[in-house]
Amino acid sequence: MASTALELARRAHEDIERLERRACRALTSESASATHKGRLTANRLASGLVEAAADRAKRLRAVYDDADGSMAEEKASMGDGEDARMALRAFYETVKRTRASYEGRESDVANDGEAFLDEIEQSLEDPSAAFSGEENLGRCLDLHESHATFSNATFGERCDYSQYLARCGDFASIARTKKFCSAYTEYLDALLAYLVSFHERAMPLQFVGEALERDAEAFEARWTKGECVGWEDRGVRAVDEKMMKSSSADLSAFSSIEEMRAALDVDGVKSALESMGLKMGGTPEQRCERLWSVKGKKLSEIDKKLFAKGVVVDLKKKSSKGDDVAKAEARAKMVARKESQCAEALRLLGKQLDATRTNVEKKSTLSLAELQAEAEEDDDFSDAETDEEEEIYNPLKLPLGWDGKPIPYWLYKLHGLNMEYTCEICGNYSYWGRRAFERHFTEWRHQHGMRCLKIPYTRAFNEVVSIADARALHANLSQRDDGSFDVALDAEVEDTHGNVYNKKTYEDLKRQGLL
Ligand SMILES: [Zn+2]
Repeated sequence: MASTALELARRAHEDIERLERRACRALTSESASATHKGRLTANRLASGLVEAAADRAKRLRAVYDDADGSMAEEKASMGDGEDARMALRAFYETVKRTRASYEGRESDVANDGEAFLDEIEQSLEDPSAAFSGEENLGRCLDLHESHATFSNATFGERCDYSQYLARCGDFASIARTKKFCSAYTEYLDALLAYLVSFHERAMPLQFVGEALERDAEAFEARWTKGECVGWEDRGVRAVDEKMMKSSSADLSAFSSIEEMRAALDVDGVKSALESMGLKMGGTPEQRCERLWSVKGKKLSEIDKKLFAKGVVVDLKKKSSKGDDVAKAEARAKMVARKESQCAEALRLLGKQLDATRTNVEKKSTLSLAELQAEAEEDDDFSDAETDEEEEIYNPLKLPLGWDGKPIPYWLYKLHGLNMEYTCEICGNYSYWGRRAFERHFTEWRHQHGMRCLKIPYTRAFNEVVSIADARALHANLSQRDDGSFDVALDAEVEDTHGNVYNKKTYEDLKRQGLL
């Protein structure tokens, strides 16, 4: 049944459709947007499904291409639609074949066609297995290996991990002369391979390969224009007689190698070698000997092996020079291209690199005990994150309690928080609940409102919320008291618990020892 070309094609179309739908469902599911792990799992699943769909599309293409002509044969056997008898005969023949193929399988349970999707889903490993502990589910990079290589290599220097993280993308700071060794190329290769593999694991739906290809094209353009940082001269440094003469050390001033060694310190020898374009490796002894060996020689007489890589000796002989230049440039370009690729990969992972730096800094400030506590907390942390990102169901718009969750409805009713009180003196500010309303009379907002009305606040004004009422009461009171202010009755006093009394009551209570 499934052997006919048309059926194969139909089946492939169906599978692709199902794969697309499942991928869509995975990406739009709630868990995919809630947490980092949910997002990662969904992305990995979608990537697996898309891969399977692409695989089926390839096979479908082959069916349509119809290399062995079976599709065309099948179509021909169905007739062209003109001859009804021929078409019917083909139809009944197919029915007969179908019946025969299902003979004796009546008890089989029909497959809903989605089983293979579940298989793909189950075949994907848990995302936590794909990442090392340091990588923390793709949140951070683990560059310890590159760091170890870098701090032990001649092109690098000893530095701690956080320093390395700060400078790992800065290839221009590495001296050019140290870049032409195979160790450096291997270092770049390993770094790039790690970054690409991390990118693929952490962001399976983004095509890091394409981004790198784009960068490679951009690199070609930059290289031609000489815009690559640190490679502006395209890796070719020509040395001629004039340069040798104007080098930092005047060797003719010394009569012996000992004299030279005494006059020039280690750095002096180094800089002299560099300005002449000579190799700078080896022990201080070897460097001295190398420098001495070129004393008084013409450029053409110096052994070519003594020159550093990337240095082209200008002998004003066009043919040999052209060759050397091309060779030097090709080598420099290869290194520069690798650097550019690594830099691009690091740029794509900028967020993760930042997270790594922060993480390392944070860890360096913690003690061992705190680190252990943190590791134990890590699992809780991911749960806490889930809660935080989860939307809280709050249809009644209940106020939030101290734990950030809405308070229970019965508590809400009990406190009368559904009752709104507005106060004109407070500029029509609303207070929710009787308690908040009562308390507000002694709070700053109401007191400020009263001061603006130039009415001294006394207990008599409690519960007065309209400006007109307050004014009338004030006029009334001032008439009655003749405007005098009775300290014992009108002054407000507060006890340590924040209760407000007039001075007389306060002193009475205090005398009785009730405060
Ligand atoms: Zn008020």
